[in-house]
Amino acid sequence: MFQFHENSPLSFQDPLPESADVVIIGGGVIGICTALNLVKRGHSVVVCEKGRVAGEQSSRNWGWVRSTGRDADEVPIAMDATNIWEQFGSQLGEGIGFKRAGVSAFAKSEKEIAEFEWWIENVAKKYNLDTRLLSRREANDMAGTPSGNWLGGMYTASDGRAEPFTAVPTIAKALQSTGGVIRESCAVRIIETKAGKVSSVVTEHGEIKTSRVLCSAGAWSTLFLSNLGIDLPQLAVKGTVARTAPVDNFFEGAGVFDDICIRRRQDGGYTIATGFCQHYIGANSFRYLFKFVPSMGSASELIPLPGRDPTQQAFFRRHWGADDVSPFEELRVNNPPSSGLALNGFRRRLAKNVPQLADVELTETWAGAIDATPDVVPVMDSVDSCPGLFLATGFSGHGFGIGPGAGKVMADLIDGQDSGYDLSRFRFARFSDGSKMRPGPAI
Ligand SMILES: Cc1cc2nc3c(=O)[nH]c(=O)nc-3n(C[C@H](O)[C@H](O)[C@H](O)COP(=O)(O)OP(=O)(O)OC[C@H]3O[C@@H](n4cnc5c(N)ncnc54)[C@H](O)[C@@H]3O)c2cc1C
Repeated sequence: MFQFHENSPLSFQDPLPESADVVIIGGGVIGICTALNLVKRGHSVVVCEKGRVAGEQSSRNWGWVRSTGRDADEVPIAMDATNIWEQFGSQLGEGIGFKRAGVSAFAKSEKEIAEFEWWIENVAKKYNLDTRLLSRREANDMAGTPSGNWLGGMYTASDGRAEPFTAVPTIAKALQSTGGVIRESCAVRIIETKAGKVSSVVTEHGEIKTSRVLCSAGAWSTLFLSNLGIDLPQLAVKGTVARTAPVDNFFEGAGVFDDICIRRRQDGGYTIATGFCQHYIGANSFRYLFKFVPSMGSASELIPLPGRDPTQQAFFRRHWGADDVSPFEELRVNNPPSSGLALNGFRRRLAKNVPQLADVELTETWAGAIDATPDVVPVMDSVDSCPGLFLATGFSGHGFGIGPGAGKVMADLIDGQDSGYDLSRFRFARFSDGSKMRPGPAI
């Protein structure tokens, strides 16, 4: 079994300062990219990571860097993010593994083609994104299925891929060499306030005085915020992923082949996954049930399961203080088991839709807990009830690609600058001001 926290070759153990301009909770792609932007602007920044940098979602993902098929308000941020990935690739070397190799989605029905057309007309064109429809012939040529499996498709040549296992630690090394402080095995227990404003964070290794804190704690954000009396409706869903041994390169980019998704890897294999997700039912599943109802229709492959989700509060909420061992120290890296059901499905689906990989050896499998919001788009905002606290969480299974752009957005918010994007879709208050939950599209 693939053990991310043991295999990661880069470690981060900087001493903690007594104070910092900004403290960031969580060393995933969002926390690290926000910190890099802030440090480049001259701020002192500390990133506290309870386990390993990119030990959770930011290394376990599929590695797609896409604007294709996104919620309209995410697209301009995602397009800028892709450009930043390209710069990372040329400046930081092969650990980033970025390549503009394109993202495609292939269709078997007229309904899917109509959905692609709608998205191109209403979203891609608005932002001058180069997404285009593929004819039947083009789709089958691109998918390497001359026998004609596909009716057509949608393709964005400017989208890309990166290598999740090494990319964020590589960016984190760049952050460290620019002056950012990063400390692994350092859980933030609580945030202290004075006169209602953020005054410090208390970590398991001591206190850091600060007036600005970013919570980018991924699937743990709801649990962390609940201890402060802040309610964030977010639930974890588990996705299972596998990689193949190196094989002939028949498809260079990332693609949705009906019910199975593949992405070419730098090591010559493919990363394989499906939309099949599992959710361990806990107290929050009931607490947030009604908020999640609108998105359930689009989650046709979501299976609820009995089992313990470590990121959820129990029915009787637990509270902890500065001197208590927090839940974040009890599980350093959330490493859920991959699903046998999902893996069995991979073989069947590959045989049907990607025959080139039907018999290939799956050399590793893993799973990751995705931080899903009711409308499947993130929160990027400040918290009115706690001045100095900012949130960037709930990227709902597509935060890796947009991560460098989201990092810039959050640095602007924390810095009090206008990001230049319309961020109203990502405001925190949408969960409490009576707004209707409007799930974004999923390709
Ligand atoms: C299976 C899977 C496939 C995916 N595929 C894609 C894809 O192809 N493309 C794409 O764009 N996105 C994809 N995603 C989503 C993407 O990986 C995430 O949206 C993104 O990595 C989120 O980054 P993050 O920094 O917000 O969270 P994370 O990477 O989860 O980082 C949060 C960090 O916070 C730390 N933390 C939590 N609590 C505390 C605390 N109290 N103190 C200190 N540290 C704390 C955690 O240990 C964790 O390391 C996928 C996700 C999964 C799981």
